[in-house]
Amino acid sequence: MINSFSYWEQKSFLSGFDVLIIGSGIVGLFAALSLKSQKPKLKIGVLEAGFLPGGASTKNAGFACFGSISELIEELKTGSEDEIAGIIEMRWRGLKKLRESLGDRAISFEQYGGYEVFKSSETDFANSCIEQIPYFNKFLGSIIGKTDIYAVNNAKIAEFGMNGITNMIKNKYEGQIDTGKMMSALLSKVQGMGIAIFNNCRVQKIESNSNDQVLITNQGTFKASAVILATNAFGKELIPKLDVVPGRGQVLITEPIKGLKIKGSFHYNRGYTYFRNIDDRILLGGGRDLNFEAEQTLDPGITDIIQNYLEKLLNETILPEQKVKIEHRWSGVMGFGKEVKPIVEKIQPGLYCAVRCNGMGVAMGSLLGEQVAMLIDL
Ligand SMILES: Cc1cc2nc3c(=O)[nH]c(=O)nc-3n(C[C@H](O)[C@H](O)[C@H](O)COP(=O)(O)OP(=O)(O)OC[C@H]3O[C@@H](n4cnc5c(N)ncnc54)[C@H](O)[C@@H]3O)c2cc1C
Repeated sequence: MINSFSYWEQKSFLSGFDVLIIGSGIVGLFAALSLKSQKPKLKIGVLEAGFLPGGASTKNAGFACFGSISELIEELKTGSEDEIAGIIEMRWRGLKKLRESLGDRAISFEQYGGYEVFKSSETDFANSCIEQIPYFNKFLGSIIGKTDIYAVNNAKIAEFGMNGITNMIKNKYEGQIDTGKMMSALLSKVQGMGIAIFNNCRVQKIESNSNDQVLITNQGTFKASAVILATNAFGKELIPKLDVVPGRGQVLITEPIKGLKIKGSFHYNRGYTYFRNIDDRILLGGGRDLNFEAEQTLDPGITDIIQNYLEKLLNETILPEQKVKIEHRWSGVMGFGKEVKPIVEKIQPGLYCAVRCNGMGVAMGSLLGEQVAMLIDL
């Protein structure tokens, strides 16, 4: 370690690790939780670059979802039925694990349902999705054990008070969480198990030797027998061969709205745009498809092109004729790749990774953490 640390700090806080995890997002924290539950004697540390977790896990929309019909149609173009079934199962089982591990109350889980909405100009597209409802109810039925998942529910459009939406497909098993409460509960649980989390600690380089993994950070050098990389969109910065491309997601949230009628999580434009109710407000995000190249960035930030699109949708379609103030805007970064499947693997002896949640890590993150923990043989 660097010299400014005392003998005591070095001995008790900063050395003797069996496992070090890079990244304190949902995947890194669940990897820590799973490992410690399986092997309580292991000394585990989590190194996090941010002051708070700096990735997607504290920035997301909090949809507890496993796929709208149009998203699943798109995903089936990238992989076989078996592969996509495996991914849907990971999302479903991941959500179950998240809820069981932290408790519905702690994460404010609500099963208001999910809705895919289509504008009047998209009737052909809507019909092509509606035609697929029986197929997807059967396909997902074999994975999640329910056969009444998706159904047309146009009656709700007027109830929600939206304008220009003419078709709506409901997924009755979709839910939503409070992302901040979930991450706060997860951090408390991990720390309560005696796992140290070091913030403002950016890993700059991983050096492997025959006995251990050496992590060079802005705070000094850490060593452990095994290292798990759980940096999602940032994966390539430390392991350049990983197929992970960043995709920034921009979000806005309104002020509280009196008499808000909208309740549930909503998907629009093949999942590229999404909105939900939270604390009497509307949270709305997405629009990455308007400027794909510019949004392939790890840098935080918002842009006029996307924010203007989101505001137009909010004012004209979601909350028509209501003058609602935008209270806050932010961005977070997701990890994508050629395949929808996440990368959970041993990169080399002592070095493991669990990255590339493809924008659905709230759903599958807990399971990815568990899976990478199971690869470690200590
Ligand atoms: C705007 C937005 C909306 C989303 N909405 C949803 C949703 O509704 N439902 C859903 O299922 N998913 C959603 N997601 C995706 C979901 O949030 C992610 O898939 C999930 O959080 C990924 O978790 P993770 O632990 O893999 O990565 P992250 O949460 O990104 O964590 C990686 C961590 O690694 C840290 N790190 C990076 N490099 C280093 C380094 N060199 N040294 C130390 N630490 C480092 C980062 O600071 C970060 O904290 C959304 C994402 C965004 C951005």
